[in-house]
Amino acid sequence: MKRICAHPHPHPREELSSLTGRLRRESRKITGPRAAILEILRQHPHPLTNREIFAELPKRGCDLATIYRAMQMLEKLGMVKRFDFGDGAARFELVAEGDDGHHHHLICTLCARVVEIEECFPEEIERRIAIQNGFRAVTHRLEFFGVCPACQK
Ligand SMILES: [Zn+2]
Ligand SMILES: [Zn+2]
Ligand SMILES: [Zn+2]
Repeated sequence: MKRICAHPHPHPREELSSLTGRLRRESRKITGPRAAILEILRQHPHPLTNREIFAELPKRGCDLATIYRAMQMLEKLGMVKRFDFGDGAARFELVAEGDDGHHHHLICTLCARVVEIEECFPEEIERRIAIQNGFRAVTHRLEFFGVCPACQK
């Protein structure tokens, strides 16, 4: 499925220099592939799979395994958030500094168009679920699926 980025992301994109600055502060080297991966993530308003990042790399300067390791590191540092669209491929999106990146997506099941969704459950629901089941620190993951306007024609 080809992805179409028709919707602008509601959050402003961080400058590449600011992203590499965050890496440097974590004592991580700014290698060519790492900078290229960050730039690709910066230019895409929606979560990307490792393969999609690989396909966007200009000169195929690194292999999939390098991207896989870089994404693991970025996730550990809290610079990207992992999303699951239920197709077995991990997807990554940049997270603004000091943000937990919690949000949802609406995905077209026909063309794979992704819309960023800013709405979320009222906290009250999580509180009630936590209390009723004796849990603490309850959170949730949720993605919406449907047929987009272009695919309804
Ligand atoms: Zn998103
Ligand atoms: Zn569609
Ligand atoms: Zn939510």
